[in-house]
Amino acid sequence: MAILDRTTTPRRAAPPSPRDRYCALRDAALAELDAFEGLGREAVRPWQLARLHEQVAHARRNSPFYRHHLAGLPADTGGEDPALLPFTTKDDLRRGYPLELLAVPPSDVARYGESTGTTGSPTSSAITYQDWVRGNVSTERSLAHRFGPGDLVFVAIPYELSFAAYDLDRALETVGAAVVGTGILSAVCPVERTARMIATLRPAGIVCSPTRALRLHDLLREAGHDPAALGVRTVLYVGETCSPAKLAKIARLWQADLVPAYGTTETNSLALSCERGRAHLTEDRHLFEVLDPATGAPLRPGATGELVLSTLVAQAMPLLRYRTGDLVSRDPDPCPCGSVRATVRHHGRVGDRLLVAGRSLDRLDLEEAVLSVPGTGLYYAAGVEEERLRLRVECPDRPARQVCAEVAERVHVRLGVTPEVTEVDRATVGRAMDAMLKPGNLTLADLDAAR
Ligand SMILES: [Zn+2]
Repeated sequence: MAILDRTTTPRRAAPPSPRDRYCALRDAALAELDAFEGLGREAVRPWQLARLHEQVAHARRNSPFYRHHLAGLPADTGGEDPALLPFTTKDDLRRGYPLELLAVPPSDVARYGESTGTTGSPTSSAITYQDWVRGNVSTERSLAHRFGPGDLVFVAIPYELSFAAYDLDRALETVGAAVVGTGILSAVCPVERTARMIATLRPAGIVCSPTRALRLHDLLREAGHDPAALGVRTVLYVGETCSPAKLAKIARLWQADLVPAYGTTETNSLALSCERGRAHLTEDRHLFEVLDPATGAPLRPGATGELVLSTLVAQAMPLLRYRTGDLVSRDPDPCPCGSVRATVRHHGRVGDRLLVAGRSLDRLDLEEAVLSVPGTGLYYAAGVEEERLRLRVECPDRPARQVCAEVAERVHVRLGVTPEVTEVDRATVGRAMDAMLKPGNLTLADLDAAR
């Protein structure tokens, strides 16, 4: 041995094989998930605060942005009461573009993404391989309730620059399903081709936005197919939220279960569905607050407010009290599935409200009022022009004059605003939506541009 020691060059231990590295991270992430699910509800907050304390220390030590942002605060701020920490905003992320928030050496980054930049200059997001695997196993656990070997699943959301589509890919592969990564809006696979492939390949599931699910249904019907007979069991909807009336239409048209998943570009998944179809918050990886968007005051469970999150175990890009700009409500009751994690409903974006003559209208309330009128079609568009709410609705089954009058009456009764309602034809809507990344945000200007 002594001779060997003297005659061989000291060597660094061989790095683990990619497979061993992945398996070790995956096993650890699954063990963390199980340990969290084993907590009682009352133990969740102390567990989260202990991790938040570590996360704040990590951010202050390693992220240039947070070193500056938290300068002057006592060293242990945040471990007892997260409200003592300052908010992090979308503008902070824009100013920190691309890597000011990074808390690891760039060489440790496994994936880098950016927001679409449709609402201003882009923001960046970065994760280590361990961050990535932690997210993957959460998604895998959720999708295992819906898909398994033998199932084919279309992933019809953007792959470019974001993590969500790839995360779903990994999870679907791991549960044994097969993936068709169509993406959306690409020159290679526009929505018409996705529809044709659904008719040919007959998938068990489709991952897409709710509005895209309507559009795909629409295109299949136009081509002479009965979408409800194609065998699609589950539509996993992401990327936009919608009203119960719209969800009911999609479920009826496809004869499929609708299952939500919610996340942001900066964080990837934040809520994933259980076997009951309710969206559980990723409280093992994030501490969530629901706050009044105007005052920042905490709201009681069940109330709708802005979702504010702090990462608890993020390595690459810790975020502390990040204002997502999303409106949510936390369900006050536990889910019958038995998970310790709270469930949440997504109500759209804080900035999505319509201002009509001094009144602020919730877009989902408006959608619910419009689409619950018998005889309205799949789509509608809303906008405010000259202080007046204007609506364009499809009226495929009943006389347009009658449907428009009923929509005006229902909106008036429910929201206290009298809109001007006119008919729109589906061909115009289709042309407008097929050019949109987020077709759920269809506006009057989009319709005018599509004429
Ligand atoms: Zn549940």
